[in-house]
Amino acid sequence: MISLFPLFLISLSAWGSSVNAQAKNYPGAAGWPTSAAWQELGQATGGRLSKCPATECTSSQGAYVLAAKTAQDVSAGMKFATANKVRVSVKGTGHDFMSSQNRNGGSGSLLIYTRTMKGYQIVPEWVATGAPNGTAPQAAVGIAGGTAFEEVYPFVERERLMIVHGATASVGAAGGWIQGGGHGPLSNQYGMGCDNALEFEIVVPSGAILIANDYQNQDLFFALRGGGGGTFGIVTRLITRAYPLPTMNGIQISVRGRGYLDAMAYLFAMTPNMTDFGLSGYPTMSGSSYSSRLRAPGKTAQEISEFFNPIAERMRQLGVTVSLDQVVDRGTTSKRELFKEAAESEKLKARQLGGLMTSRLLARDALNEGNIPAIRKMLSSVTGGLSSVLPYPNAGGRVAQNRDLDTGLNPAWRDAVMHMIVMGIGGSPVSAMDPLSANHGAYLNEASPSERDWKTTFFGGGEHYARLLEVKKKYDPTNTLWCTPCVGGDLLVERSGRLYDA
Ligand SMILES: Cc1cc2nc3c(=O)[nH]c(=O)nc-3n(C[C@H](O)[C@H](O)[C@H](O)COP(=O)(O)OP(=O)(O)OC[C@H]3O[C@@H](n4cnc5c(N)ncnc54)[C@H](O)[C@@H]3O)c2cc1C
Repeated sequence: MISLFPLFLISLSAWGSSVNAQAKNYPGAAGWPTSAAWQELGQATGGRLSKCPATECTSSQGAYVLAAKTAQDVSAGMKFATANKVRVSVKGTGHDFMSSQNRNGGSGSLLIYTRTMKGYQIVPEWVATGAPNGTAPQAAVGIAGGTAFEEVYPFVERERLMIVHGATASVGAAGGWIQGGGHGPLSNQYGMGCDNALEFEIVVPSGAILIANDYQNQDLFFALRGGGGGTFGIVTRLITRAYPLPTMNGIQISVRGRGYLDAMAYLFAMTPNMTDFGLSGYPTMSGSSYSSRLRAPGKTAQEISEFFNPIAERMRQLGVTVSLDQVVDRGTTSKRELFKEAAESEKLKARQLGGLMTSRLLARDALNEGNIPAIRKMLSSVTGGLSSVLPYPNAGGRVAQNRDLDTGLNPAWRDAVMHMIVMGIGGSPVSAMDPLSANHGAYLNEASPSERDWKTTFFGGGEHYARLLEVKKKYDPTNTLWCTPCVGGDLLVERSGRLYDA
């Protein structure tokens, strides 16, 4: 009898290799670059390559780390990795909430560390590279790829200028924040961070150093403005719009007492009015108290009080104590103060690095007085357990008015008025918030990594996602940069720290 056994073996291995081909090379396997090849890369990059573990490595899982100083260093690393089928991951400040997914430090990867690329420059009359003659110049700030806000801010402020920045000083100015969208205390007035990006210098996986702006590599420019960090290439320089320093008056609000949920549901229903007026900020709330300092750039303290007093009065009628204090900018409100204001909510967030964060972008259409019962039900659900809630009224305003900008940002941002984060265990915050969300949307940078319909939730789904994916495939055809939840995250699968073709 002829045995079927060898045939069976052949077909099994054929099945194994076609479905599960290892997408990358790993230490110890054939194809992994030799020590001599790594040494050569180290020499080509000025001795800035180290074997992990080293201080810059995210975990001991990374294989090598390249603490890049220049775009040329990044280019050498990318070229080497792509040619040798080595996974590349990118890390700046390491603030990534998706770090549990190894978004900024994949196993067996060459980690390109960007914090070593620091620098900034004010360019009072900046014109985009490749712009036609006669293009009007504008004020801008150039920022090297690894610079954090706390490094660039004091300098910009001394010149009585400002840039749209995150609420926390230690977040990177040119990394995951702006590439994932980037909200901040000035977004209501000037839009998301990504709306204000004028140009990126970026190293793509082929090693090419490209300029992406309105005139060159426009597809990449689209994707880098909201389509996510660590996906399309490594940004080595950002040019962002500069504005004159605005006044930052505001109001300090605390709410507690009987009738709390009714009053809070009413306050939530007023969010479109508040963001239309120009108020935004970084509130924190629990099941029994709410506290916030909201600011309205360019408005007087008197105007802000006159706007907010009737809202507070209505809340009091619903049974709560509302205390209000004017916050007056006497021309000395430095951005450092703004950073400090957000500190409480930021501290809460910092503790969540690695998990237990859920969020939704709540729609303008859902937050209105006609919908108060549904808002109250949602609040009752998310504040019922041990959770902390961060209801940021940081969309609307200019974020909504910028809807026609051609950016890769999740379009749900343009229909939202609030980015709401729930942190902690228990309950089902997604199912509570989702009915009030704009297209099931959430903010890619501050969310749960385990969203089921992540293409829609983080990237708008449909044509918007398809367009981002096209850019991903064009500039990174071999998935040198792979991460999840990121555009193209389902092109490979990760099992036990190894990447396989999907
Ligand atoms: C305490 C705290 C406060 C925060 N406050 C805000 C806030 O006010 N507003 C807001 O919008 N977000 C805020 N965030 C979220 C923040 O936007 C994200 O964590 C963001 O991903 C951080 O980017 P990073 O470059 O600083 O961090 P990293 O962890 O270094 O990188 C994050 C992601 O970007 C990629 N990346 C980093 N640098 C580059 C680069 N040069 N080129 C390409 N990809 C790169 C990484 O691979 C990773 O995927 C906060 C986070 C924390 C921890």
